[in-house]
Amino acid sequence: MKSIKLLLLMVAITILTGCGTTSQVPITGRKQNLIVSDEQVMSLSNEQYREYMKSAKPSTNAANTAMVKRVGQRLARAVETYLRANGQAADVAHYEWEFNLVQNTQVNAFCMPGGKIVVYEGILPVTQDEASLAIVLGHEIAHAVAKHSAERLSNTYKQQAGLQIISGVASAAGMGPNWSAITSKALGVGAQAWSSGFSRKQESEADHIGLIFAAMAGYDPEVAVNFWQRMAKAGNSSTSIFSDHPSDAKRIKQISGWLPEARKYYKKQ
Ligand SMILES: [Zn+2]
Repeated sequence: MKSIKLLLLMVAITILTGCGTTSQVPITGRKQNLIVSDEQVMSLSNEQYREYMKSAKPSTNAANTAMVKRVGQRLARAVETYLRANGQAADVAHYEWEFNLVQNTQVNAFCMPGGKIVVYEGILPVTQDEASLAIVLGHEIAHAVAKHSAERLSNTYKQQAGLQIISGVASAAGMGPNWSAITSKALGVGAQAWSSGFSRKQESEADHIGLIFAAMAGYDPEVAVNFWQRMAKAGNSSTSIFSDHPSDAKRIKQISGWLPEARKYYKKQ
């Protein structure tokens, strides 16, 4: 809660001194206005990540654990190279990539801001190969790189808070429990909630960017269509964090549409 108060103070200062920061999402070029920075969101999410990892059971399958780390690191290197070459080296500095495989039968994966990624064992029978795993990890990395959590929290504050944040600050040690509640509600409680509340627009954007990232890292983007068809069959939308995604048919159609762009980045390795 202490970090939330600190964050709110920073947000209030942002509002008092200007209108936040306009940044551009890599690949899609979409402009976003953030009143909460990615670093501020990370200060909150890292606590929840550590809590989650304390209770999570790491996979005992050494080969699969190594595969998740290997594919993840290869993607992260490609993404960082791209960002450095495209004027976003400053963002690269604060990523701390971690790729974990945990014991859980759900068909699931999630990413915390800053690049802490968790893959559930239950998704591996659906990914089946490393290129399809790269589609999943590319999607999760895209949420981090596109600062979707900071955007979600910024929008929530803008909608619900407006300038009342300032009065919240003025009311002294105030900035009381209400703001903590709004923050928790916006971000969710617990590690998995961080990636379950993205908007459909953000999910589509993560599909798009993730496909390009996979191609950049040398994974054949063509596998994405078959992979998402398998996901549609395996999908239990009530338990999957992919439940807020666009409908399966729409998603597969969109991905097919992005394939020509992805092919330009793909170099077989
Ligand atoms: Zn997602």
